Amino acid sequence: MRRAKIVCTLGPASNDAASIEALVEAGMDCARLNFSHGEHASHAATAKLVRDAAYKLKRPVAILADLCGPKMRCGKFANGSIELVEGARFTLTTRDVLGDETIVSQSYEPLPRDVVPGDVILLDDGLRALKVVETTDTDVICVVETGGTLSDRKGINVPGANLSTPALTEKDRLDLEFAVEHLKVDYLALSFVRNPDDVRQAQQLARGTPVIAKLEKPEAIANLEAICDIAEGCMVARGDLGVEVGSAKVPLIQKRIIREVNKRGKLVITATQMLDSMIRNPRPTRAEAADVANAVLDGTDALMLSAETAAGKYPTESVRMMDAIVREVEGSMHTVERPMSEVALIDRERWGFADAAARAGAMMSYALPLEAIVTFTRDGRSARLLAEYRPRTKIIAITSRPEVANQLALEWGVVPRLEIPPDTLEEALRLCTALLVREKLCKHGDSIAIVMGWPTSVGTNTVKLHKL
Ligand code: PEP
Repeated sequence: MRRAKIVCTLGPASNDAASIEALVEAGMDCARLNFSHGEHASHAATAKLVRDAAYKLKRPVAILADLCGPKMRCGKFANGSIELVEGARFTLTTRDVLGDETIVSQSYEPLPRDVVPGDVILLDDGLRALKVVETTDTDVICVVETGGTLSDRKGINVPGANLSTPALTEKDRLDLEFAVEHLKVDYLALSFVRNPDDVRQAQQLARGTPVIAKLEKPEAIANLEAICDIAEGCMVARGDLGVEVGSAKVPLIQKRIIREVNKRGKLVITATQMLDSMIRNPRPTRAEAADVANAVLDGTDALMLSAETAAGKYPTESVRMMDAIVREVEGSMHTVERPMSEVALIDRERWGFADAAARAGAMMSYALPLEAIVTFTRDGRSARLLAEYRPRTKIIAITSRPEVANQLALEWGVVPRLEIPPDTLEEALRLCTALLVREKLCKHGDSIAIVMGWPTSVGTNTVKLHKL
């Protein structure tokens, strides 16, 4: 069983019923709806396809709505793309024009006020560069420093500039409301977070839906601990991060983010270009395979595919490949599990019965040959706590609430299952045996630990060892 989870961005290459079912069968644990593209109606249609596929295949799948934040983008060109020529003048304008070799519209109204002559503006994930020459009320007139092809709606970054925009734009507010109210998504991701207040603003509107802070700005890295304290999870958003801080700094920042989030027992997703060449090729480069493996070794809870599954030629193969790499690493490593000494040292300000029971269950998985830890969970908390302690064995989380099962699909090491909760310990034992054997998760004679409330009306307070 694979324990680090896989997030797939859905897009034109994958947003039909057959492709989504294929992705679920290949190992997609969470579908990402990217609100940088598409309309509410198309996201609603995609979300329904995901829910339908998950229901049909009896595999809980989480849905993550990724809010685009103040991402600046170029508009469209008359011919779909242009060639930027080094040394030539090129203007970014807030006016609504159809682009050509000399000008393109851009989406961020304050840009002419936020940049000054000499600033460098990067386009298309930093592949093209412009230098600002002068500004007017509407235009930023530049000279091309690094040329090449520029196609419709590519991203714009101004590294180092303190842009005057809020993290949560008006569009984000509308998208968030729609995603929470109508799509009932399981997670929200917030782009270009700079400080904990950005996250708080989203949480106030999110009505309990967990908010994942996308860390892609130098300010966010400077405020890393405070953001990790407040957000329900973080994403190492290596695309924009690499443009903002330079690619050389990304690997160590990735390790730092993962360590800080792990320490707090929260969710961390490592994202972008993990199997980038599989957008075009049926096999990844060795360096990409190593990148996926290293993110797992760093301790990431989940790995994300972007254009590989949204727009690439090999979406299902990308998931299968990621699944295979993760299994290989997890199957042969000693480092996925937290060493028992480290588990014992995780400190909490206040210990409750649920924390203590989860830690005890996780520690038993190091001391005994357990095949599974089963937890009965109403809101997912005991499963999340168990995942935090990185037990040596799989965590089977049994819940009666579909929304909890869907959310837990993204949680490291957790296999969520929907069942009517048992009323007695005897029923719990019967249910565990039937489910684990039926789904070939365990066999008769295997030892398991059950982390549950006993009597079942109270919160988690018990670790029961049991032979199936
Ligand atoms: C990133 O920049 O790495 C990222 C995940 O964000 P997006 O795909 O929205 O640009």
